[in-house]
This record gives sequence, C-alpha cells and structure tokens, in this order.
Amino acid sequence: MTERYSRQLLFPGIGPDGQKCLLNSRVLIVGCGALGSSHAELLARAGVGFLRIVDRDFVEASNLQRQTMFTESDAEDRLPKAVAAANHIKRINSNVVVESIVADVNNSNVERLIETCDLVVDGTDNFSTRYLINDACVKHNVNWIYGAAVGSYGVTMTIRPHQTACLRCVFEELPAAGSAPTCDTAGVLMSIVSIVSSLQVTEAIKLLIGNVADLHGSLMQVDVWNNDWRKIDPGPPRPECLSCGLLSFESLDSDANRDAAVLCGRDAIQILPAKPTSINFQSLAARLEGVGDVKFNDYLLRFRTGNFELTVFPDARSIIRGTDEINTARSLYAKYIGN
Ligand SMILES: [Zn+2]
Repeated sequence: MTERYSRQLLFPGIGPDGQKCLLNSRVLIVGCGALGSSHAELLARAGVGFLRIVDRDFVEASNLQRQTMFTESDAEDRLPKAVAAANHIKRINSNVVVESIVADVNNSNVERLIETCDLVVDGTDNFSTRYLINDACVKHNVNWIYGAAVGSYGVTMTIRPHQTACLRCVFEELPAAGSAPTCDTAGVLMSIVSIVSSLQVTEAIKLLIGNVADLHGSLMQVDVWNNDWRKIDPGPPRPECLSCGLLSFESLDSDANRDAAVLCGRDAIQILPAKPTSINFQSLAARLEGVGDVKFNDYLLRFRTGNFELTVFPDARSIIRGTDEINTARSLYAKYIGN
C-alpha cells in the first residue's frame, strides 16, 4: 500500500493522513462519458476507497476518441459504460470497491444515489441532470463539483452548499433545449476533457482530505484552443436563490417530462417506463423476431426496424435512435415494448 501510493505520500498536500482519508472516502460519479470515465480512473488510481458510478448509456465507437476508460471490445460488446468502467477499474486498482449502476439519474433516485457518499462529481452532459444534482446536494448538504466540456472550452465550479454559491446562484435558469452547443453538434477535444476532469478531481481530493483553503473558489473557464484561462468570482450564496436560498427544490419535485428525454443531439430519445418494471429479454426478443432484427445480452436488448433502433434495458428504459421527436419515440416504445 505504501509503495503503491508513495508519490502521493511524498506530496506534502496529501501525505499519510490525506491518503488515509482518500482510502476511507466514498464518491458518487454521475455520468460515465468523457468526463466521468476520467474521474473514475483518476480517483481509483488516487486510492479513493469506494466509487459509485451511475450511467444510462452504453459504449459506442464514437466514444473512443476521448473516453479513455473504454476499449474497442467494450464498444463491440455494447457494454453499459458503468459496467465497462467497473471492469477496467478492477484491473487498475483492485482495492477500490466499485458499485456500477446502469440507470438514468432522475428525481426518483438522485437522493438515494447521493446517500452515503461524501462527495459528488459531475460527469453528465446536460443541465437538467446538473440542476437535479444541485438540488439534491443542497438539500442533503453534500459537496459537489460541476464540470462541462464542449469544443475546446471547459468550465468547472466546486459547490459547498450554503458555504459557496450553488449552480442555481450562478445559472438561474435552465438553458433552453437546442440553445447551447453540444459535443454532438460542436465536437469536443479530448484535451479539454482531460483538463476539466483533472481540475475536478484535484478539487475532489482537496475536499476529501478536508483542505478547503486551497480550493480555487471560482467559476473556472478554460479554452484550450484559444489559450484563455479565467477565474470568475461567483460571489457568496444568494439569499434569493431558489435552491440554496429559498430551499425550493424545483427539479426534485417536478414531474415534467420525466418519462422522456432527448439525448444530447444524437438523434435519439430516451423513454422511461411509467412504472418501475423488469423485462424478460428472452420473451421480448421472441415477440420482436418477426418484425425486425433483434439481439440481446445480459444488459440490453437491441432491436432494429426500418430506420429506427431501440435499445432496451432490463428496467424497461429504452433509447430510441433515429428520431429527435419525443412523440415518435413514445409511439415506437408503445408499439414494440408496450407500456
Ligand atoms: Zn444557490
């Protein structure tokens, strides 16, 4: 153990006491794409004892340019990202306990997911999930680290509820759908992903070892192509902030659009079942065989018909590719999966 972490033990900012804290820490990583898989690797190598990794998606060839945790065989096997990440972490650091959860993070599960974790790291790709994390963390007084990257630009902020500004103090309103560039419309450089995830993980380590004084205390913005680094002072928590000021947790309470979501510009829609359920892939595959091409493994069932591809998970959550229309997706879901 001493040899494994020797270079961190030598680093005065961490040392033996800090390393002990890391080994006893529990971190939730929400989203295991480019940022999340990098968080997972860095935190596992640093020796954080427990990682809960939640992601709703599976590995695809287009991920491999920047999602360093995954390999070609993960993409060929279409493994869920949370499962593929756990497999790789076992080989990187077998002392780390990884709980991988293949699920959509929404208001029915977010509070349960942050329970028993010391810290939350944001590896998501959308603002509605970040508002959800913000509300849950403010409500339960858990620190979290916002991070995002698109194109060559990245941003991060460390949020300690009631001590610092929260995400809603800084960004009052959810950006309108389609109003901001995404990785799928604007592309993304792996180098900015590495920078943002490294900043987030360094802040995570400081928080886990109780070093609040060295946090950067800003909304930190980096453009790695235009060579622009900025630290913007977010100011103190705002008393009129809906979340940390008024303790009105809109995103935790809201039922709006809970059952359907457009997936980050990928010409795909996610549909959630109206009620929690458990799907038998064998019998579903038997039903679908006559109407299209169907394949399944332990984690997902994939069904192709015409220009559409439906990926169904064991809890009946489905990703419908080939449309950006929620209604079309709902109709395909109803038609082939049933509700
Ligand atoms: Zn706030």
